[in-house]
Amino acid sequence: MDDLTRCVITPKVKTEGFDSLGPAVYRASTIVFENAAAYANRLSRGPDGYSYGLYGTPTTRALEHKVTELEQGRRTLLVPSGQAANTIAMLAFLKAGDKILIADTAYPPMRDFADSDLQKFGVTVVYYDPASPSEVERLIDKRTRIVWCESPGSTTMEVQDLPRIAEIAHRHGALVGCDNTWATPLNFKPLVHGADIVTEALTKYVSGHSDVLMGSITVSDEAHFLTIRSSMGRLGIGVSPDDASLVLRGMETLGIRMKHAHQGAMAAIEWLQGHPLVERVLYPALADCPGHDIWKRDFLGASGVFSVVFVPEAVQHISAALDALETFAIGASWGGTRSLVAPMPVKVNRTATSWAGDDMVLRISIGLEAREDLMADLQRMLSAVEMRVAADLARAEPYAMPAT
Ligand SMILES: *Cc1c(COP(=O)(O)O)cnc(C)c1O
Repeated sequence: MDDLTRCVITPKVKTEGFDSLGPAVYRASTIVFENAAAYANRLSRGPDGYSYGLYGTPTTRALEHKVTELEQGRRTLLVPSGQAANTIAMLAFLKAGDKILIADTAYPPMRDFADSDLQKFGVTVVYYDPASPSEVERLIDKRTRIVWCESPGSTTMEVQDLPRIAEIAHRHGALVGCDNTWATPLNFKPLVHGADIVTEALTKYVSGHSDVLMGSITVSDEAHFLTIRSSMGRLGIGVSPDDASLVLRGMETLGIRMKHAHQGAMAAIEWLQGHPLVERVLYPALADCPGHDIWKRDFLGASGVFSVVFVPEAVQHISAALDALETFAIGASWGGTRSLVAPMPVKVNRTATSWAGDDMVLRISIGLEAREDLMADLQRMLSAVEMRVAADLARAEPYAMPAT
């Protein structure tokens, strides 16, 4: 054999006896076949076999299996982001003339996708009050192909009665999809509560380190899997095994990170609720959160993401006061090790329900930093708001100081 050929051909080495705990990263576009007949029959290898890198490697299969087991589903597909998980789960099933009902509190980029792309392809998009199964009953018809849920809802955290919504949807022949990113499959299992499709932004808690984007679609049924898989193949969508290995690694500590984040969130919330500038905290584990009883009935726990509603005189100063933060970072995509804050608009993303509060709530994601540092940071931020509110008052009532 010539050296040039030696450079190209990788020798087979023994793998027997090498049983590493860490999952191996298998990279491939091409997968080779032992003979021409095996190549000709490659598509008969089925969903567990290997035929081309785009359709899976042992690394991505390992992650798919892990997610499937946690969701208690039939099969899982991996896609390049949480947003892609939602859009592909919809695209695979919808055609022109169909109708989709979407929870009014769905992840905002989903509204954008539905309003721009689904409408463009002739799908009727209707939003519903996430807290009202009877509204789903009123809006659903025989054209309705999908009822889309997200529980709790993005930003305002309404918990949905998934079993009731699924009963209504199934009675009308519609599928139920549920974005489960806030809870992760550790804290909620939508397929067990009636959904046919569950999506996760693995980008958030499951990978957990803010360094990779990925989404999963898990289905309860082999037929749904085949529908989505063939759409994905035609669209040319798959994920990198390197990214899958990052998610596999992060997932090993998911349970302990979520528990820590929940405890940290409870401590921060307790302090925030006692603060005069805080009107309300939105978090499903709190008794006054919309759908708290459903959360208690169906969920197994809470993560560390919550939203803070401020009193009206404070709202306009929150954004500037965020600059006082030292430990919290400002940014989107929560669920990592670092605590994050992000001011979120509400009204622009609501059409089926009305939001009575001010049009900004602060979304907070608690990470793994020491609690004292996080609490000191929140105090710093709210002190900055207090100073600005006091300055407003002094300007508004320059002569209000008691004369002595
Ligand atoms: C972040 C998020 C997504 C999108 O995930 P990406 O991986 O960032 O695309 C989808 N749904 C919910 C509820 C999210 O919070």
